[in-house]
Parts: sequence; C-alpha cells; structure tokens
Amino acid sequence: LPPVIAIDGPSASGKGSVAERVAKQFDFHYLDSGALYRLLAYAAHTQHVAWSDATSLAAIAAGMDIRFAGGEVYLNGGQASAQIRTEHMGKGASEVAVHPQVRTALLQTQRNFRQAPGLVGDGRDIGSVIFPDAVLKVFLTAAVETRAQRRYEQLIARGEFADYNIILEDLRQRDLRDSQRASAPLKQLPDAILVDTTHMNITQAVDMIVTAFNK
Ligand code: C5P
Repeated sequence: LPPVIAIDGPSASGKGSVAERVAKQFDFHYLDSGALYRLLAYAAHTQHVAWSDATSLAAIAAGMDIRFAGGEVYLNGGQASAQIRTEHMGKGASEVAVHPQVRTALLQTQRNFRQAPGLVGDGRDIGSVIFPDAVLKVFLTAAVETRAQRRYEQLIARGEFADYNIILEDLRQRDLRDSQRASAPLKQLPDAILVDTTHMNITQAVDMIVTAFNK
C-alpha cells in the first residue's frame, strides 16, 4: 500500500497549507478531509436537512460525488469551493462530524484517496481512524489566540467581515466539540510528532515534517 502522512490538528492550525506543501514536496496526493465534512454540511443546508439529523446526513454522505481538481472542489459536478469555506459551513462541518453514522459513511471515501505514490491527509482522525498505519503521524497545532489571529487576517485579506473576539470564541467552541465528542475525538496520538506553529512559519513546519519523513 502507498505510504500515508497523517496531519491532524485543531481548526486554523495551518494544516491545509502545510499538508498541501508537504504533498507537493513528495509528489503525493492530498486529502483535505475537512472539506468532506464541509461539503456534507453544505449539501444538507441546500436540501433543508438539519445538521442534527444523523440518519438523513449519512444517506446524503453516501450519495455525494466529490472531486478535487486544480485546487477546487466539486460536489455532484458543481463548483463548491467558495460555498464550503465560510465560517457557517465550518460550524456546520463540526456539527455533522459528531455523528458516528456520518463518520462511517465518509470512511471509505477517504481511504480511496490512498493511491501511488503516496498520500498526505489532513483532518482530526486521519492517524487514529482513517489510516492508523500511516508511516508518519503529525499533530499540528498552535495556541488558540495565534490561530484566531491567523484566521482573522485571512478573512480580512479576503475582504470579509471579521471580529477577532468572535473568531476566538468560535475556535474555542470548535476545539471543545472536536476534542470532546465520543466518536473519533481530536487528540495527540502517542506515536505522532508534535509540530507547534505558534512561533513557526509554514516553511519551518513543512521542513520539520519533510525531515521526519525522510528519516
Ligand atoms: O479542517 P476543517 O476546519 O475544514 O474541518 C471542519 C470540521 O470538520 C472540523 O471542525 C471537524 O469538526 C470536522 N472534521 C472531522 N474530522 C476530520 C476533518 C474535519 O471531524 N477528519
């Protein structure tokens, strides 16, 4: 089986940017697992299905046709990148993600991304549930205030409304929901290396992971 590098960590820790660059370094495929939960939250929203309705959500998840191409994501043939990147869908993703039936419905979808020559996957349970045999497991994190500041700057740069204190509070709530849920909670695995980017830039984080993989 092709090797997997699992990068798990809390929201806004920089997982996406770091994972994408690590994948590029090795010419590996890249799986943004958070996008799958966001796509499900979005699909449910458009179909007026509540984020608490586990049974209906699992049915929707099983029928989603998801494609990543050219840095964009497509749901059932339609572009969905901008729609799923909102704070609202981030919140929705973390709500649909608590249901075990939803997580089961998305399990095989994620495993299908494991293709030669290798895969870099980022999320919350890539190293614990999806690919427990990953050759390298990384716990990528940063202080919650640092993550809030980065998210704030990202939103401002996109010309969107942003309030630092609201973002900080949202992140705290999401951290809590992700780490305290019964099904696949976010935690640092004993066999994962810790990459704390509080005082580190993206390049340094990427270098740390590339070095660890090459060892
Ligand atoms: O990483 P991202 O912020 O896009 O993820 C959105 C939400 O999806 C997370 O807050 C988390 O609740 C959920 N998620 C998950 N398991 C994953 C990836 C994301 O539960 N592997």
